[in-house]
Amino acid sequence: MTPKGKILVTRSLPGNALERLREKGYQVEVHEGLFLPREDLLKRVEGAIGLIPTVEDRIDAEVMDRAPELKVIACYSVGVDHVDLEAAKARGIRVTHTPGVLTEATADLTLALLLAVARRVVEGVDYARRGLWRAWHPELLLGMDLQGATLGIVGMGRIGQAVAQRAEAFGMKVVYTSRAPKPLPYPHLSLEELLATSDIVSLHTPLTPETHRLMNRERLFAMRPGSILINTARGGLVDTEALVEALKGHLFGAGLDVTDPEPLPPGHPLYTLPNAVITPHIGSAGRRTRERMAEIAVENLLFALEGREPPNPVV
Ligand code: NAP
Repeated sequence: MTPKGKILVTRSLPGNALERLREKGYQVEVHEGLFLPREDLLKRVEGAIGLIPTVEDRIDAEVMDRAPELKVIACYSVGVDHVDLEAAKARGIRVTHTPGVLTEATADLTLALLLAVARRVVEGVDYARRGLWRAWHPELLLGMDLQGATLGIVGMGRIGQAVAQRAEAFGMKVVYTSRAPKPLPYPHLSLEELLATSDIVSLHTPLTPETHRLMNRERLFAMRPGSILINTARGGLVDTEALVEALKGHLFGAGLDVTDPEPLPPGHPLYTLPNAVITPHIGSAGRRTRERMAEIAVENLLFALEGREPPNPVV
């Protein structure tokens, strides 16, 4: 079979989805390292007709211009803030993503962070491991009770709603803000009202020019004293410097799966705060979820290459 063209996949993916591309005669190039330096991305994309990038690859006009035959960028994520959509549109390149399949896994991790911060799980594990656990005490590691607490969801889409369902099972009261009210059994508030009434604020909007630094200094300090911030959406939604300050007295804690900058460099002030629980962007990292994401990315890529409307188009 004559090769049909080169597909660059910027990281190895779990499962067998890429076999489907090979069986169809595409020349699949997979970058095997932990990360792909910019210079290598610019070189390796040359000659590609299809690209499967991860959230860590900035796919801008420069990358696209290195691959004039590029027809499709099939994102291995639901978020597409790492892709210059206007540049893709201008060049007639299709962009697709993987919505839905990762909703439940990301909502699960949101609850994991929420529980970890509210009940000081990481501090407790650390305390026990360091040999400090010598007695039971009524005032040891007191946290926030979730029963009856108000959870404010910012961005009530797929993941926001899945988080709301889980929160209800814990006896929390759910309120939310989105640009438009939804037919849901929860009060729709303005962001300012939500910040003033929530014990926990959880972010679930995409990162766009409109939501960049949505949680700026003023809004972080407008959260209730002793409340919790959870971010499993995108690091750019939060002013990191202001968050560090807010965590030194104003807030009870923060649970972050995403940060700005990302990855968060070793020695960053956030790592020194016992009330910040940070995971390395693993929201969708359930094995089955990640395998399905690969299958969906491949499906989108094939549809676009075959000139058909892909199932999950962005551009
Ligand atoms: P979605 O279904 O599109 O939901 C996003 C919601 O945000 C929409 O309902 C939208 O509602 C709302 N929104 C948009 N702009 C807003 C604004 N300015 N103010 C308030 N609300 C706004 O997306 P999803 O599937 O739930 O995913 C959400 C985000 O999570 C993704 O974009 C991605 O960045 C992130 N994510 C992270 C991980 C991870 O590994 N940590 C995994 C998956 C997803 P309106 O249109 O009514 O405003």
